[in-house]
Amino acid sequence: MEKRAYAKINLSLDVTGKRSDGYHEVRMIMQMVSLWDTLRVTETDTPGIELICREPGVPCDSRNLVWQACDMLMKEKKVQQGVRIVLEKRIPHAAGLGGGSSDAAAALHAVNELFHLGFSDDELCARGVRIGADVPYCVMGGTALAEGIGEKLTALPAMPPCHIVLARPDVDVPTGVVYRKLDSCTSVVHPDVDAQADAIRRGDLAGVVRTLGNVLEPVTAADAPVITAIRRGLDRAGAEGTLMSGSGATVFGIFSDEAQAARAAETVREGGMAKDVFVTCPDVLN
Ligand code: ATP
Repeated sequence: MEKRAYAKINLSLDVTGKRSDGYHEVRMIMQMVSLWDTLRVTETDTPGIELICREPGVPCDSRNLVWQACDMLMKEKKVQQGVRIVLEKRIPHAAGLGGGSSDAAAALHAVNELFHLGFSDDELCARGVRIGADVPYCVMGGTALAEGIGEKLTALPAMPPCHIVLARPDVDVPTGVVYRKLDSCTSVVHPDVDAQADAIRRGDLAGVVRTLGNVLEPVTAADAPVITAIRRGLDRAGAEGTLMSGSGATVFGIFSDEAQAARAAETVREGGMAKDVFVTCPDVLN
């Protein structure tokens, strides 16, 4: 069985509070894009989980979110057989694109189907959140408003058609560090997440662009000025709007014209500011 795990971007990301258990309360609009990892999943007679991934920096043991997803479902349903997963990474990791969470969600779907476990999507979400706050969204996919710690989901219509350039500078950003730094910030500019949800409902790309905003961007960009430089580069290349995704450091630019998006990607590549550049579009599931 083969599953795709799509990257996500945050069209907006707001942090509205902190819970007593240390988790941050968020409100954000998530969008899947057409960049994906591939999981090839097969049943084996040897019990246990065999995970193969050749990407440097991505562990193949119980630290991998794919491993954790398989282990959780297989233990709960006392699956006797084993599973072998070959994970082919294309989504840069620790980049704000939710690659690990999406891989975990794809693994939940795969194991559920492979062993006929019978979990509904809601049941997979309830289990996924134990692995990571973004996993429930990745189980559902498409376009969604995520609240709570990210697990309270409201599906939105597909975002208006466009082309999205992803540019990831050579900066690894540990999500936890960014949230800790945010806690000591005194002034935070909050994006208008509700206005953005309304713009999506109206199919209004200009409205989506006007309301792009991420409270984590100033925190990450303070240590990585390349983020602002890439945004300027994409702006100059004709982007309708630009933003950093998640806790960074990937920056995205939204274009209505495909050829312009391709030229902008080329400009960023040639400028040497980004380690990885992709031209994608919103992945439409709903
Ligand atoms: P987010 O947008 O949710 O903050 P991210 O892009 O920062 O996600 P991931 O791609 O999930 O982060 O990777 C973060 C770290 O998690 C990696 O550095 C890696 O050590 C670990 N990890 C565990 N499982 C995976 C996986 N399947 N793919 C990538 N990284 C994984």
